[in-house]
Amino acid sequence: MNLDALPYKWDPNIQRFRWTNGAAAGKLASEQAVLSVTSRVIDAESSQLEQLGRDFFAGKLNAREFQKQSGEALRRIHGSSAIIAKRGPQNVTNEDWAQITEILKRQFYKGRGVNGRPYGLKHLTADVEKGKVSEAQLVARLRMYAKSGRLSGDLMQRRAAAAAGKLYATRHLSPSHVHCASCLAHQQLTPRLASEITPPATNCECRTNCKCYLLFMSLEDAIKGGLSAA
Ligand SMILES: [Zn+2]
Ligand SMILES: [Zn+2]
Repeated sequence: MNLDALPYKWDPNIQRFRWTNGAAAGKLASEQAVLSVTSRVIDAESSQLEQLGRDFFAGKLNAREFQKQSGEALRRIHGSSAIIAKRGPQNVTNEDWAQITEILKRQFYKGRGVNGRPYGLKHLTADVEKGKVSEAQLVARLRMYAKSGRLSGDLMQRRAAAAAGKLYATRHLSPSHVHCASCLAHQQLTPRLASEITPPATNCECRTNCKCYLLFMSLEDAIKGGLSAA
């Protein structure tokens, strides 16, 4: 992903973020501000992706351009999700980027559904051209594609945590966000296996706006935090 599009940079000398654009250029930026800007990038790219679908459906964009631009928007959505998951681009390794590329390839270029039929952008484009998909269906599909970026970010976070031996987690509500009833139900204050916790933005009414987050920990810390053997 081209990180120049982001309005901040990590300053490795002082281990802090700095804004790179606008009136605040050069000033220090808090991690929270940086992550919330990145999350707004995802929202903007997701709306853009839906607009690309409408333009393609209306014939304002040809199939090739639609696929190319949608692919780029999805790359930025997944890249931004990874940045949020790793709490800054400085923590996203080359291996992580390679993993994102692989996720994108599988999901949008050579994926197969449970029925064994291929899916992804190419097939969606072809289905639109054959008149098999309505505009509303196309937009709904693109919205789900955008949402999958968040899940890739969560997957990356879990893998990084597992690699560091942190297989347990708690799930928390963001204090600065109005959450839905499902988020409250998914809250997990007593540690349990991370794989057993519902990932944020899944099965909740906030959807991609969900600001819930997981805190990963080792078995030792999970026991201290009240992990139950039951
Ligand atoms: Zn929610
Ligand atoms: Zn939530």
